Amino acid sequence: MSTAEPASARSLGLAGCEACGLVVRLPAADGMDHCPRCGERLHSRRPASIERSWALAITALVLYIPANLLPVMTTNTPLGAVSDTIMQGVVELWSPTSWPLAIVVFVASVTIPLGKLIALAYLLLTVQRGSVQSNGQRVCLYRLLKFIGRWSMLDVFVDTFVVALIQLRPLMWVEPGAGVIFFAGVVVVTMLAVNSFDPRLIWDLPHQERHGHD
Ligand SMILES: [Zn+2]
Repeated sequence: MSTAEPASARSLGLAGCEACGLVVRLPAADGMDHCPRCGERLHSRRPASIERSWALAITALVLYIPANLLPVMTTNTPLGAVSDTIMQGVVELWSPTSWPLAIVVFVASVTIPLGKLIALAYLLLTVQRGSVQSNGQRVCLYRLLKFIGRWSMLDVFVDTFVVALIQLRPLMWVEPGAGVIFFAGVVVVTMLAVNSFDPRLIWDLPHQERHGHD
């Protein structure tokens, strides 16, 4: 390592415990070790971070297709039952009084899940290419993904709210459709994909060995 490059914990043979923050010197051999303070497994980079994150992101993308194609709710009236996909629901909500709700459902259920996957794919591709550019922005993007992850169930809340509004009308009741299960799958699998990504990889220089002390 030349003196121009900033030292990382890994280049110094150190690792920070991801649970309690204790900095520990890793053993010289394969770094399977546990934190002496809290017992958490230590690794200078999460094992197979990129592979796991890709596998989960692709799974989420596959689940995203039936989530949008299958009905998310069936509305029953004395005249019959109507099943709606999420986009049909957005179109039906689009009226002079409830258009803001239509936008919220569209953004929460269609735009954000896909945007998260695109952002994660971008982080994974740039890390795999060994990019050293705009690291600061990429870390911000990662933090944004983590932050949005906490609000991922927003679309479920919104849809529940819409169902509750419809239930208030007489002679009308709503049942959830199969699409809801796939939507929940997209949300959960995307959160796992983001959690598998190790943001420290963003700062690793391309010529440094990537799989040491996993
Ligand atoms: Zn610890």
